[in-house]
Amino acid sequence: MSKTPSELDALTEQLIAFRDARDWRQFHSLKNLIVSLNLEATELLELTQWKSDEDIEAAIGSPDFSEKAAEECADILLYLLLISERAGLDLVAAAQAKIAKNAQKYPVEKSKGNARKYTEL
Ligand SMILES: [Mg+2]
Repeated sequence: MSKTPSELDALTEQLIAFRDARDWRQFHSLKNLIVSLNLEATELLELTQWKSDEDIEAAIGSPDFSEKAAEECADILLYLLLISERAGLDLVAAAQAKIAKNAQKYPVEKSKGNARKYTEL
């Protein structure tokens, strides 16, 4: 069954064109991309450093927080797309499969309203 191109596919094409115009594929080993993804995730985490849940909730929607969070989330997404392309993964299919797997592990009747791990349900 052929798949309809998604916005993620279009974004990946745009990103690959950006990368290839700069001849950067040579630096994008799978290991380097995974390291970079984690560094970007840490930059997102840094936005929460020394702040309480209340501080962070209050920051949602503020221009400063929104700009920084959007930038780091974009960095994470872009590295994830590069990893998926490099490793030959279908990210949307993998995510859909994972949601289905989690639905099996966390049936609504056992997991609704609690944060217990599936092994504790
Ligand atoms: Mg960043």
